[in-house]
Amino acid sequence: MALQIDVVPAFNDNYIWLISQPDQPHVYVVDPGDASPVLEWLQQSGSQLAGILLTHHHPDHTGGVERLLQHRSVPVYGPKSARIPAVTDAFHDGDHLRILDTDFRVIEVPGHTLDHIAFLADPGAGHAPLLFCGDTLFASGCGRLFEGDPPMMLASLGKLASLPDTTRVYCAHEYTRANLAFARAAEPDNAAIAERERAVIALREQDRITLPSDLATEKRTNPFLRCHKESVRQRCSEHAGRTLTTEVDTFAALRQWKDNFQG
Ligand code: ZN
Ligand code: FE
Repeated sequence: MALQIDVVPAFNDNYIWLISQPDQPHVYVVDPGDASPVLEWLQQSGSQLAGILLTHHHPDHTGGVERLLQHRSVPVYGPKSARIPAVTDAFHDGDHLRILDTDFRVIEVPGHTLDHIAFLADPGAGHAPLLFCGDTLFASGCGRLFEGDPPMMLASLGKLASLPDTTRVYCAHEYTRANLAFARAAEPDNAAIAERERAVIALREQDRITLPSDLATEKRTNPFLRCHKESVRQRCSEHAGRTLTTEVDTFAALRQWKDNFQG
């Protein structure tokens, strides 16, 4: 069964995804950092909040939960994390939940935070899987390593990259343009990155959203998924001023380069 995905922007560059079924009133909200735009959307669409999905504890993803629960008492699905006391249904890697007649699989993806999970919705034959990955995988980028280390984050990104190429990627921030400016620096000879950057600049100049992405596009244009490539290893070695020999060393150097990158 097809799912309908809507979005409300929050703060400067957050996206709050809303999951429903066509012609059904029940809506699940992902990472509501702010309640106001969600409540406004519910009112305008005549929909009813049915549950909250949380990927990790950061306030820009959880800050609206309390007020939404005052509006309506609903289940809160999230990681088992002392940092998110509002979670009513805690999930571990490989757990499944069933909402909107759809199977959602939980994938633990520590790195950005230690408690980070992603939700993979499988709407069934004929529909692409949908990945709600918070701040782990971004369009042409990945989350900063606030709590985890490079081997941990690389393993988490590897789990996501192993999903079907058609998987649609619903990440939580509009970072795509800045990410592509960095991706171009990291892979100056990658024509797919240059082409995507042009398309994304055109969208952003009209203030349009650049998401969702899909995994096939990410594998071509996201340098953080391409640290096994010889060209990326060489470029990161040049930038780091030493010979990097492993994928994880390349990933660590790439992440550090991005942390200090001024576009
Ligand atoms: Zn975060
Ligand atoms: Fe965030």
